[in-house]
Amino acid sequence: MSQIKLDQLAHSYYPDPATAEDFALKKMDYLWDDGGAYALLGPSGCGKTTLLNIISGLLVPSRGRILFDGEDVTAKSPEERNIAQVFQFPVIYDTMTVAQNLEFPLANRGVDRSEIRKRVDEMLDTLELSAKAGRRAQGLTADEKQKISLGRGLVRYDVNAILFDEPLTVIDPHMKWQLRTKLKELHQRFSHTMIYVTHDQTEALTFADKVVVMYEGEVVQIGTPEELFERPDHTFVGYFIGSPGMNILPCVVNGNNAVVAGHSIPLDTVYQPPRGARVELGVRPEFVRFAHAAENGVPVSIESIDNVGRHRIAKVRLAGNPMNVIVPEGEMLSSTDHQIVFDAQRCGIYVNDHRLDAAFAGQGKRYDY
Ligand code: ATP
Repeated sequence: MSQIKLDQLAHSYYPDPATAEDFALKKMDYLWDDGGAYALLGPSGCGKTTLLNIISGLLVPSRGRILFDGEDVTAKSPEERNIAQVFQFPVIYDTMTVAQNLEFPLANRGVDRSEIRKRVDEMLDTLELSAKAGRRAQGLTADEKQKISLGRGLVRYDVNAILFDEPLTVIDPHMKWQLRTKLKELHQRFSHTMIYVTHDQTEALTFADKVVVMYEGEVVQIGTPEELFERPDHTFVGYFIGSPGMNILPCVVNGNNAVVAGHSIPLDTVYQPPRGARVELGVRPEFVRFAHAAENGVPVSIESIDNVGRHRIAKVRLAGNPMNVIVPEGEMLSSTDHQIVFDAQRCGIYVNDHRLDAAFAGQGKRYDY
């Protein structure tokens, strides 16, 4: 297992990239912990597979280096990097039995016969495939074949990292949950460094200790699921994580107030956004509520209220801006006046999509947009 360093890494598929748009991956500089479980999460085309292929050695980055435990592996092949990979579709030998498929990566590396037996039995048991150990892979379902693929990646203890590229795409929804739980369990048991590509937030949030959110070739935040929910660093993270996503309202900032269409919304501290920048207030639907009778709030019009089981979601407009507000179970709404109140502690100010530090915390920080 290895610590992975992305050192000033960038990649363009063009021979002579001229502008930022020519780069599928914009410059990034990160250190990922040995034994960490990371998910690369983002929409189609944001660069997840490009980054995964650079880490695995299938692709040489046009700029920067990649280091495993301090060793520069940029020019090394996937085999030399000693990593295991699990792809979207099963990569197995149809004519071999389930057990032989799992033995193969170990036998190939000269692992001792008794050790192979022990590890294969353990993996068969973990994946609940023991009853099918002697069956040819050919006749198995897509789910079962993909389980074997996962097993082939996980059966080796000596790998530097295990990389997964949307491995649960072909798996049925119920089994997906089971396999995700299994992967998490295996990670806790063996502490492999794992990198898991997905565009599904549930998959990312349930699998990973740290989620790497990507957007248009950039890593916009690396954080625990809680951090991404509580404090999105970028409007895209706010929008992409959570259901529904964060509300984003154009505003001007006046000391410790955000002013939206003439309505002042108190913030927890003073912000000083740079002049001329695009400034927005971001707040999750969970942290806005309808005002009580004697309270002063910001007036909104209600467009619809949807019951989603645990609570209701009110779709409202604040001076024309669409917003969602979570309405807890049992809360009554009057049919006439509607005002909403913002939780000042949970409001963020975003400048050109990036979260702004409080004025006193951002000392020395420059915003070059
Ligand atoms: P998906 O979830 O659809 O697989 P992704 O997040 O993995 O998307 P990438 O496949 O890494 O994204 O693609 C990032 C960008 O690079 C996209 O704009 C894509 O069109 C471009 N790209 C990917 N592979 C190539 C290639 N071989 N040649 C040229 N451009 C490419």
